[in-house]
Amino acid sequence: SIPVAIVAGIGRGARDGMLIKGGEHLETSARIDTVALDKTGTLTTGRPVLTDVLPLPGRTREEVLLWAARAELTSDHPLAAPVVQAARADGLDLGQIPEQADAVVGRGVLARHGGRAITVGNQAMLRESDIADRPEAREAIDLADETARRGRTPMIVTLDDSVLGVIGLADTPRAEAADAITALRRSGVREVVMLTGDQPRVAQAVAAEVGIDTVHAGLLPEGKLDQIAALQARGRTVAMVGDGVNDAPALASADIGISMGAAGSAVAIETSDIALMRDSLSALAQSLRLARRTVAVMR
Ligand code: ADP
Ligand code: MG
Repeated sequence: SIPVAIVAGIGRGARDGMLIKGGEHLETSARIDTVALDKTGTLTTGRPVLTDVLPLPGRTREEVLLWAARAELTSDHPLAAPVVQAARADGLDLGQIPEQADAVVGRGVLARHGGRAITVGNQAMLRESDIADRPEAREAIDLADETARRGRTPMIVTLDDSVLGVIGLADTPRAEAADAITALRRSGVREVVMLTGDQPRVAQAVAAEVGIDTVHAGLLPEGKLDQIAALQARGRTVAMVGDGVNDAPALASADIGISMGAAGSAVAIETSDIALMRDSLSALAQSLRLARRTVAVMR
């Protein structure tokens, strides 16, 4: 039978917005010494704001925004909506939805609109393309690197065989993020790490703001999983906190997977052991403390 303390712990968690999917997760949570967190949507609001439109020489702001927005029109990536919104705010006519739009994991989106081929993505996406050796590609990658150094997530926009320019987006840390990290350390967690698909410079800028020293950036979903496994191989008991489809493998393989319930993707919620049902990181340290208290009562 389930110990009364566990039932009480799950009940208390539910009142505070933590959906704990089984008593065993409380017992494991009590032993967590390492917490890994996704960046976009977890440490940040996940509602990025468009900050820069940087056309290459001979190109216009309108061209860059128009083609980027056409490609992102049907994308559900958090970076897509602010681009579409900005284009509409500028009064641009986006026309039909794209004939085709494929997400390239950890890279961007590849679309076809009115017979034209569009890509919107990071430097890696352009580097891996057929036009990587063009001078304008070099120029766009430099511009994107410079944008990333300012803490903004860059996306490079290409149309057919030419590069139009770069868009920059700022995804600000959640208001409670820094306090939530401090609370984690106070509750006895010895290491807090960031795992993100975004690039190192952007990741470092956010990590510095929220007080995280260890950053692993440029990760694909399997890369996040590998980092969890590496921590476990060092004897750590690891909680992974994430909101996205790209976090699901890491959430599943961590000792405890914690999803951002209110705003997270359905897959992340399903894969996790604990779902934070309020759109806030404040309950994170609270859930670990609840677990420790519950287990202490049982002994
Ligand atoms: P995270 O781990 O931070 O949630 P993702 O794995 O979702 O990040 O994405 C990694 C990177 O791939 C993004 O930072 C962005 O540069 C690029 N990217 C992914 N999807 C898109 C998109 N729809 N449009 C533009 N860039 C994208
Ligand atoms: Mg995310």
